[in-house]
Amino acid sequence: MGFGNGSLLDRKFTDRFTRMLPGDTLGDIRPRQVMGSAWAAVAPAPVREPRLLLWSDRLAAELGIADTPQDDPRVAAVLAGNEQLPGMRTWSAAYAGHQFGHWAGQLGDGRAITLGELVDHTGQHQELQLKGAGRTPFSRGADGRAVLRSSLREFLCSEAMHGLGIPTTRVLSLVLTGEQVIRDMFYDGNLAAEPGAIVCRVAPSFLRFGNFQLAAARGDLPLLEQLLDFCIEHYFPDIDAADEIERCASWFNDVCRRTALLLTHWMHVGFVHGVMNTDNMSVLGLTIDYGPYGWLEPFEPGWTPNTTDSEGRRYCYGRQPQIAQWNLARLAETLLALDVAENLLQDGLSLYAGTFSARYRSLQARRLGLPEDEATIALASKLPAMLEQGEVDYVLFHRLLSRLPAGSSSAEELLAPLAPAFHRPEPPAALVHWLLAWSSLAARSGEDDEERRTNMDALNPKYVPRNWLVQVAIEAAETGDLEPARRLLRVLQRPFDEQPGEDGLAARRPDWARNRPGCSALSCSS
Ligand code: AMP
Ligand code: MG
Repeated sequence: MGFGNGSLLDRKFTDRFTRMLPGDTLGDIRPRQVMGSAWAAVAPAPVREPRLLLWSDRLAAELGIADTPQDDPRVAAVLAGNEQLPGMRTWSAAYAGHQFGHWAGQLGDGRAITLGELVDHTGQHQELQLKGAGRTPFSRGADGRAVLRSSLREFLCSEAMHGLGIPTTRVLSLVLTGEQVIRDMFYDGNLAAEPGAIVCRVAPSFLRFGNFQLAAARGDLPLLEQLLDFCIEHYFPDIDAADEIERCASWFNDVCRRTALLLTHWMHVGFVHGVMNTDNMSVLGLTIDYGPYGWLEPFEPGWTPNTTDSEGRRYCYGRQPQIAQWNLARLAETLLALDVAENLLQDGLSLYAGTFSARYRSLQARRLGLPEDEATIALASKLPAMLEQGEVDYVLFHRLLSRLPAGSSSAEELLAPLAPAFHRPEPPAALVHWLLAWSSLAARSGEDDEERRTNMDALNPKYVPRNWLVQVAIEAAETGDLEPARRLLRVLQRPFDEQPGEDGLAARRPDWARNRPGCSALSCSS
């Protein structure tokens, strides 16, 4: 298709959300309940001195704006919310949610403001949304701003997720605002001024479970129906149902299926979202709202990067699949108001569980380079305990497993390629037995070592945004050095490829990072 690239500054924006759904046009940003509305009109609050720091060339090309003059001050002005382009009609979404298992009522975009939509190279509409662009009626007394540290974390992780082939919201740009933002990073009374930043997030839609929950909780059935119609028409065009109830049940099934696929991905790469509240769950099955997320390094199912959750560990790595299902059950409850029978919704929840376990098992076999059969399932089920006991790096273990020969009975030969994954000098004896069993199953599979390695490498990434790597990039960026962030971004865009000279970015967590803030412990402060 002859899809040209031009400049962001020459594009005309549209906005289907505000055109098709009821909204609040008062423009009053005092904290308040926004009733009968899917959105509230809000103008971004201008910032002092916007400066474009990072730009995703890849996403810009997909949006057809690769020729944007990045050094033109107008570009930074638009991406900071200081200037608006033709067709932009800025707004924030109204939504609610369950936070840490408790109903929290109205939440909404407290610091996210959508600018409008662009049509991308596939013909899909993409929303451009600024995060940190100022107060909205949903800010609940907070400042509506974001800091460089959390903005860079969102930028790097969403582009890394996309590189991994995992559904996610994206980030086009990061601008510094030239203003300071006050944060209490560990909620311990130590206030500090940090550089303010704004990212421009991009997704076909940022609709969350919570948008539907808000309308249902208020008994606003017309709004609930409109949201559902809008969502199905634009994002689930394949749903073809005889009546409204069947249509609604099919939609729920589809959300369940997409969520199952998303969770399969997260669990396989070792991503821990950190705050899986229902307002942070996308109905499109995208990874959304990068906050105190983290990546498993030594394998540990109970690990969570979020210090706010360190007591209950509700959102730790190992609980994520079950929490997603709990969240889907809360979404199902909203549909009861539309007279969808409970058993149809129960079918969706069963579909979630079935899809997740079938996909997880099948992908796990392929990641281990083994056939999908009973022997592989039995072997795979023993792996987690062993990785945990041996303090083994999760990502490196899978990547390096492909370097092991099939049919070997030599422990040394099998352990040597895995050395970079071990945090302890002596791997447990049980792991050695496991590797011997793996090697014998691999020999029976009939694939040669080279072929197996190629197939496994296409599924087991070498590069993920390890917590300590991102922290190193943040600390450099805070002193004005963007090179580590740019380099990490470049490498993370091709996570399955060997990239000569970049092995340092695939290394296991160094000892200095073990208990360092930002590397293993994060708060929601952002
Ligand atoms: P989260 O759990 O981080 O996704 O955020 C929960 C809610 O708090 C959402 O409604 C956010 O929009 C809101 N929020 C978080 N940080 C801020 C902030 N600095 N200013 C205004 N609202 C915020
Ligand atoms: Mg959120």
